[in-house]
Amino acid sequence: MTVRRWGPVGMVIILGVVLGAILGSFLATVAIRWPREDSALRGRSACDGCGAPLAAYRLVPVISFVAQRGRAACCGMRIDRLHPAGEIAGVLAGAAIAAVASDSLTAVAGVVFGGLLLLLALLDARHYWLPNPLTAALALAGLGAGLLGLQPDLASRLIGGAAGYLLFAGVRLGYRHLRGREGMGGGDVKLFGAIGLWLGWQMLPLVLFGAAAAGLFWALILLVTGRSLSGASRLPFGVFLALAAGGGWLVLE
Ligand SMILES: [Zn+2]
Repeated sequence: MTVRRWGPVGMVIILGVVLGAILGSFLATVAIRWPREDSALRGRSACDGCGAPLAAYRLVPVISFVAQRGRAACCGMRIDRLHPAGEIAGVLAGAAIAAVASDSLTAVAGVVFGGLLLLLALLDARHYWLPNPLTAALALAGLGAGLLGLQPDLASRLIGGAAGYLLFAGVRLGYRHLRGREGMGGGDVKLFGAIGLWLGWQMLPLVLFGAAAAGLFWALILLVTGRSLSGASRLPFGVFLALAAGGGWLVLE
């Protein structure tokens, strides 16, 4: 077993999985409740359907969902699929961050980056909404990580932030000019800038390619499963950007 400065790698990955499941569960609850201005800070303590308090056995990430076969034990309501989606994403991200981070500061940065990306992805998937304060927090944290001396260096991050923002702003303007309608949300423009501040300009082509590939793959799944898809269909591009950015961070580490 490889021993890192901060502990045996097996233990660290188990810790990553547990923390990822808990954080993913919390963020899914936040994403579901946020636009309803219904606080998630008290945790997922009540049923989304009937408001009944949830027993401890119904609060275990993923396992509770499977055990209840996707329906709330109290009222039979279909449990929101965003819960297990956030939990599974949290588990995978937690394990991956624990496996690649070379020291504890990098691991903390990974949790901040991954946690904010996951919340943005969940909000975009459900509400087609990337709130400005969250994207701003992501951008500031990227700057902070650079100031703390984490790779990539501050210059690469600043160029990445500007390049990411300007590239998407240009594409957005061009699309609007050519097609006379919005093809990309303003939130995607700011998100790509924030991603540049985290990964540096060198990673942006890979992130863009990854996000486009993930988006095409998703569109293909929609087509194959018979869901309608036209030029005017909305795909939550922020989800694919967040996914590709998370992968980019792992490649960088
Ligand atoms: Zn219920």
